[in-house]
Amino acid sequence: MAPSRREFLGVVLGASAAGTLGVPALAQTTRPPTPACGGHGATPTQTEGPYFKPSSPERVSLLEPEMRGRRLTVSGAVLGTDCKPVPRALLDFWQADAGGRYDNAAFRLRGHQLTDAEGRYRLETILPGIYPGRARHIHVKVQAPSRPPLTTQLYFPGEAGNARDGIFDPALLVALADAADGASAARFDFVLDLRAR
Ligand code: FE
Repeated sequence: MAPSRREFLGVVLGASAAGTLGVPALAQTTRPPTPACGGHGATPTQTEGPYFKPSSPERVSLLEPEMRGRRLTVSGAVLGTDCKPVPRALLDFWQADAGGRYDNAAFRLRGHQLTDAEGRYRLETILPGIYPGRARHIHVKVQAPSRPPLTTQLYFPGEAGNARDGIFDPALLVALADAADGASAARFDFVLDLRAR
């Protein structure tokens, strides 16, 4: 069977990237067209749940004075399924506080930001508390310019609640590390299907 247009482009792009790095381009033609950004297609969608509120403030830090909870940064990139970064993608985060409560009256622990020119984002927040029936999670909508939003949730490794949560998806686990300052650092790259309608 002839390679699809996408497979063909993958080989060409892979060869060109390898050339830039000084790797012989020929070797690339034998590799499968698996993108470096995961090869599993777009990030899975999840329910928005009952607590989304539109018009969150634009801010990279959701921290406020006296806020309880373990400090957490979440960072990574927004990429297309072609693994190219998506600049100026909108990320709108919302989460529970350390006690597992959402602020539905105001915008505590809610905020949106745009990716930079390299498609990167960085959120400063606290580890969300857990509430009955759910594993620990952060909600997010991710939207490339002029595209529909992808609504999903991020989960944390090593949580007993993951196995008990009926909508938990291991593809949405962040990579978690402990930072030197007693905070936690999570990483997650979102992958958007830019052809989706
Ligand atoms: Fe929730």
